[in-house]
Amino acid sequence: MKYLVTGGAGFIGSHLCEYLLDQGHTVHVVDNLSTGSLKNIDHLSDHPRFQITVDTVLNPFVMERMVQEADMVFHLAAAVGVKLIIEQPVATMETNLQGTETILKLAARHGKKVLITSTSEVYGKNNKLPFDEDDDCTYGPTTTGRWSYAYSKAIDEFMAFAYLQECNVPVIVTRLFNTVGPRQTGRYGMVIPRFIRQALHNESITVYGSGQQSRSFTFVGDVVKALVDLSECEDAVGKVFNVGNDERVSIEDLAQKIKLMTGSTSKIKYIPYEEAFANNYEDMMHRMPSLKKINKLIGYRPTMDLDSILRTVIDHTQRTMAHDSVEIQNDQALIS
Ligand code: UDP
Repeated sequence: MKYLVTGGAGFIGSHLCEYLLDQGHTVHVVDNLSTGSLKNIDHLSDHPRFQITVDTVLNPFVMERMVQEADMVFHLAAAVGVKLIIEQPVATMETNLQGTETILKLAARHGKKVLITSTSEVYGKNNKLPFDEDDDCTYGPTTTGRWSYAYSKAIDEFMAFAYLQECNVPVIVTRLFNTVGPRQTGRYGMVIPRFIRQALHNESITVYGSGQQSRSFTFVGDVVKALVDLSECEDAVGKVFNVGNDERVSIEDLAQKIKLMTGSTSKIKYIPYEEAFANNYEDMMHRMPSLKKINKLIGYRPTMDLDSILRTVIDHTQRTMAHDSVEIQNDQALIS
């Protein structure tokens, strides 16, 4: 099969490309490198079945050709990370709304299947545990920046089902829950890469709020396999699926665990939300997926528990830091 992966130079996208190539498929990536990076796909660039176009999904002319040439689209291009969403609300909404609309319109014109990656954010501040796919979505006011992400992704989901209903586009919607793994950057606020880097540098580990809020983290390898399995399952069309892990941890316990596993001397520092984010911030207290629906359809179960995920990411971060410091030393040797 020939797949178009939008956002394929991002953290999850790059792992998806790797997986698809390993399965013998052909992959064409479109990425504007806003939060994605060529570094993420450096190791794939010479692969004979891999191609990248650096452009935005908002460009309908470029996208038309790419959608036409593909057998199916994995639509991952989106604004990611709470920090970015709060700082750049216009870009967030443009990318999420216009990007998805462009893809769906072209898929309708050329008769292609689309898998949309949505997010657990769409459940909003509903306090139910775990979240089932047909649970209510509860959002805060439109004056609170964070909610623009949830609202925009929820509209994406509505749009996907609308294009199925009116234009017969075979769509699958997936809601990803806090995906982690090698190559994820903490630059846009993601907690695990941030805590691990802080711990490895023996800097304060920054827990926002009370640290009693909780999340369930999924290994990226489990996520990409689930996306591909769903894309190959005819019964998945027209449905929405949680993709995640149902092992939940409080952010305070996560900080302690990472400190212990890295042997760090870091202090755990509690930072009030108002200090961490200028204003307009509201956190979700708890978040955990019900995996009943995806398990029933494709037999999905996450293979990596939190400890193995953390071990893998810590090892990867240590290797990257060692590699970066050798590069800096080499540069300095060249200069002197
Ligand atoms: N968080 C934290 N310190 C950080 C970054 C994040 O305490 O340096 C918290 C954040 O407030 C949230 C949780 O960790 O409660 C997960 O944050 P992330 O941005 O990774 O994902 P979210 O679930 O908020 O989308």
